[in-house]
Amino acid sequence: MIDSTEQLEALLMQRSLSDPELVAATERAPDYRILPEATVIKIGGQSMIDRGRSAIWPIVEEIANARKSHQMLIGTGAGTRARHIYSIAAGLGLPAGMLSQLGASVADQNAAMLGQLLARYGIPLVSGAALSSVPLSLAEIHAVVFSGMPPYGLWMRPAPEGVIPPYRTDAGCYLVAEQFGCKQMIYVKDEDGLYTANPKTAPDAKFIPKISIDEMKAAGLQDSILEFPVLDLIQSARHVREVQIVNGLKPGNLTRALAGEHVGTIITAR
Ligand code: ADP
Ligand code: MG
Repeated sequence: MIDSTEQLEALLMQRSLSDPELVAATERAPDYRILPEATVIKIGGQSMIDRGRSAIWPIVEEIANARKSHQMLIGTGAGTRARHIYSIAAGLGLPAGMLSQLGASVADQNAAMLGQLLARYGIPLVSGAALSSVPLSLAEIHAVVFSGMPPYGLWMRPAPEGVIPPYRTDAGCYLVAEQFGCKQMIYVKDEDGLYTANPKTAPDAKFIPKISIDEMKAAGLQDSILEFPVLDLIQSARHVREVQIVNGLKPGNLTRALAGEHVGTIITAR
């Protein structure tokens, strides 16, 4: 039984870093949530920001009002401009790491715009969701904006096939929530949540209010409303073991989800 730093250090010095006993020992400390009161919100790129004013102004207003009672880390998606540049770069034979950098620059653009819209409320745009200015902003202003692409850049782990970076902004925002042990993760997109098929092309698709990841995979929905690597990230998570997807085009949904209401689809680890 490992109960002290000395014992853990002894193991770490002697064993391979993937030794099962060593790995288990590093897990034995009680969990510590760094920002337990904060919620991470991802504002969709294609689904929300690309729609411009009609989708974004109401969301900005909801965020401005919600900051009185909630702490929010607001991440941005990339969207259609990223898809455009992925098609050019892939056509030029460029690898996933390059596409990851290009996609990040589009999420940066969206974060820059959202930052301008939220500036009057004192909400700052922070780079890379790094901790430097985040805690003070969360404590005093209750919100920050960050660019949602995870900063793997050239070190993006390529998918087994193709050059599209598998870890994009759904993953980037989720990893921020899990890293900081946040209260919840909310995806703001343009559908009420998950359906039995893509509602944009299958008009008879049925809405699914709550589903586990195993059920999602069994139903063949692993590649639908969230980037597929996020599902495995949720299943192996310590803190954020469920996420909610809400329709940001319906006023009040984000506010209700922030308050812990079930308004969209909840995807659970188990
Ligand atoms: P983001 O803007 O956050 O990147 P996406 O556009 O990638 O969001 O994902 C949301 C889209 O996923 C929806 O607009 C919808 O068309 C599509 N989608 C595909 N399959 C499903 C499904 N089974 N249920 C709901 N939406 C789905
Ligand atoms: Mg997407």
